[in-house]
Amino acid sequence: MNTTQPLQLLAPLSGVLMPLDSVPDPVFSSRVVGDGVCIDPTSQTLCAPLSGVIGTLQDSAHAVSITADNGVQVLMHIGLDTVSLAGKGFTSRVKMGQRVEVGQPLIDFDADYVALHARSLLTLMLVVSGEPFSLLMNDAACIESGAPLLQVDQDEQGAVQEVQQGSVLFSSPLILPNESGLHARPAAVFAQAAKAFDANIQLHKQQAAANAKSVVAIMALQTVKGDRLQVSADGPQARQAIEALEQLLLSGCGERVEAPLSLELAPLVAPSVPDRLRGVCASPGSALGVVVQIASQELDIEPTGTGIEIERAALERALAQATQALRALQGEAAGTVQAQIFSAHEELLEDPTLLEQAQALVAEGRSAAFAWKTATEATASLFRQLGSALLAERAMDLADVGQRVLKLILGVQEERWSLPEQSILVAEQLTPSQTASLDTSRIAGFVTVGGGATSHVAILARALGLPSLCGVAQQVLALDNGTQVLLDADGGELHVSPDQALIEERQAANDRQRQRHQRDLEQSAQAARTLDGHRVEVSANVGSLRDVEQAMVLGGEGVGLLRSELLYLDRAHPPGHDEQAALYCAVARALGPERNLVVRTLDVGGDKPLAYVPMAPEANPFLGLRGIRLCLERPQLLREQFRAILACSGLARLHIMLPMVTQLAELRMARQMLDEEVRNLGLKQAPKLGIMIEVPAAALMADLFAPEVDFFSIGTNDLTQYTLAMDRDHPRLASQADSLNPSVLRLIARTTEAARAHGKWVGVCGALASEPLAVPVLLGLGVHELSVSVPLIPTIKACVREWDLTVCRALAQQALGQGSAEQVRNLLRTCPSTAHPATLVTEQ
Ligand code: PEP
Ligand code: MG
Repeated sequence: MNTTQPLQLLAPLSGVLMPLDSVPDPVFSSRVVGDGVCIDPTSQTLCAPLSGVIGTLQDSAHAVSITADNGVQVLMHIGLDTVSLAGKGFTSRVKMGQRVEVGQPLIDFDADYVALHARSLLTLMLVVSGEPFSLLMNDAACIESGAPLLQVDQDEQGAVQEVQQGSVLFSSPLILPNESGLHARPAAVFAQAAKAFDANIQLHKQQAAANAKSVVAIMALQTVKGDRLQVSADGPQARQAIEALEQLLLSGCGERVEAPLSLELAPLVAPSVPDRLRGVCASPGSALGVVVQIASQELDIEPTGTGIEIERAALERALAQATQALRALQGEAAGTVQAQIFSAHEELLEDPTLLEQAQALVAEGRSAAFAWKTATEATASLFRQLGSALLAERAMDLADVGQRVLKLILGVQEERWSLPEQSILVAEQLTPSQTASLDTSRIAGFVTVGGGATSHVAILARALGLPSLCGVAQQVLALDNGTQVLLDADGGELHVSPDQALIEERQAANDRQRQRHQRDLEQSAQAARTLDGHRVEVSANVGSLRDVEQAMVLGGEGVGLLRSELLYLDRAHPPGHDEQAALYCAVARALGPERNLVVRTLDVGGDKPLAYVPMAPEANPFLGLRGIRLCLERPQLLREQFRAILACSGLARLHIMLPMVTQLAELRMARQMLDEEVRNLGLKQAPKLGIMIEVPAAALMADLFAPEVDFFSIGTNDLTQYTLAMDRDHPRLASQADSLNPSVLRLIARTTEAARAHGKWVGVCGALASEPLAVPVLLGLGVHELSVSVPLIPTIKACVREWDLTVCRALAQQALGQGSAEQVRNLLRTCPSTAHPATLVTEQ
């Protein structure tokens, strides 16, 4: 088969020749795919540089390979990252397996479209079978399509090495996670890794198999995301090869992928998972338990229907059953927020556009399942592309509700995981439907790769009071079911197969914590007073009347943050005056005239759009029309809300709080409006008016705001995000976006100083107030009120009782001088509450 005759390759395009080193893509410039040349094209038809057979032709027609009779393989790749164009801009003129002659047109492409929509138009011609070659013209020369370009010298051995056959080992089946399958880049990374092993390695997709050391062969498999693949190997290093390549495939072969999906819970060779995985605390606590991997179910969908009427009826029946199930779930939900999620799912099922799309497909002869899946996926992908965090969340909801309906159409039972005692659920992401079907009495905690503190699973975990860790490395998905783990959400760690000493130490700590919690609950009705008699108000962050009632039971001393926006979301029209007033009055009555009720005015905007407040899409919604900015643009909305809030005057100690205030003018405009409404209603007493300090500008200007407000409440969630310029929901930044960063503490200090100078009180209603570790530093900085998540009221009250205010003040000063959040945390962890203040004073 081999010949020593040189082979000439002709230029496949006209253009400017460039050295491979100058290609701005390391996969190509490092020659991992193969050596060759790059052309900046001036023509728009890729022609065959040699005669041979089309070995690969990507469905997206951006890459093609030709294998010559003598075994030389040449790959051409038009543009960089063009796989993402999914075929748009490319027209293929040949087919896989077709014989082509040198110079024959292979692919036409729209150079303008590709240049505009992909990273680059630079086109590569690479000798992927590895033979040496020489260039027949200079770099940087202009070449014409069809001109002689390379001369390939054949070596005697041939490119393919035969490896002795032995017994073949197979990996467990894997689901390919790469969004665009194994296109050139991941295929090259995979082939390169395979070449490192002394083994004959094959990559299998269904009945087809490819030489795993050949980029072209891998590409010829035409894999797509979700394909079930297996690696086989024989030869001296077969086992090592399978281990390494299996991991490589799961990790995306150098591409960022969602979760690696393993079909089987116990792979042939268990991939190595470190003893300790780090994550971000989504719900506090710790637990010892066993891993239960929760993966989503694969559904087999037949595209063609069995008759329009039959399919239409099947869709309608499934939609009705899903609605019924969602209603039942709302009743059984673990908390208000979870119930609201299911209610939102129910609304999605009634969405006319979605239904129309699905019905149109059924009318075209598609099966109900196929039609529904296509319609939901199209809408979900639209949501994801709009760049809004909220809509991206809706896409997840849609996927979840979509799956529910699909299972009903297909008659597939909802998965019922039989959970052992003390299950620690591990998943890429848990959907509300998955969590709803779980026996929560057996769950000890949650660990997820995706998601953040606002994800569904985090909400559920907090509602159940279970520890939860998110943002954990994907390796966690490779843990075997039944593996013992120690979930330390407070410390942000998952210990895999912990040793006995660690287990005993944690169990003792847990026992102490349980006893402590019991004691805190028993004492929850007592005031939160420091050892030296300083009273701190511990109130609740609430979203509903149910939350308020629970807060009262747990010793809440008022409401420090009523998130009024929950009334406004997920509906087609704003809530009317009576509906709003009814909620505010019910909450106020539950509190009574002696307790504070702080109602935050509507805090929505670009990131939480309202259907009835049309807004242009924003590139940076968190920096856009949020909170008070939106309300001042729509003054009618704010006036109506003021009127509704004022309806509960006198029923509780009413406070109104404005979110996202950045400038004095915003406060002044809102105050003027409020005063007018108070006058219009003939009220004798105006409510207190305060602002949230959640934008650094407001903290820095607190001395000028202080004379004009009645109180400040610090929103540490947003204050941290804006101070550190880190998205509060970014899973990869979550561990750094720490509210105990000294920069945030300094802004808090500035706020409390300004408030003190003007005799105003300061609360904290962000998540930092619910963190026991932060209590002394907040008290020491001069915070008067801590508004916390309802279940944590007894704990935070008990924390306050442990400290002496003078110690807290010295500790706070020391914290302000630390260089990082980590140092502040270490300081707080190691400082005993009984420390003598003199030992803590810093040099100042
Ligand atoms: C905050 O930003 O800290 C806050 C309490 O407001 P939200 O979390 O609702 O933005
Ligand atoms: Mg906020």
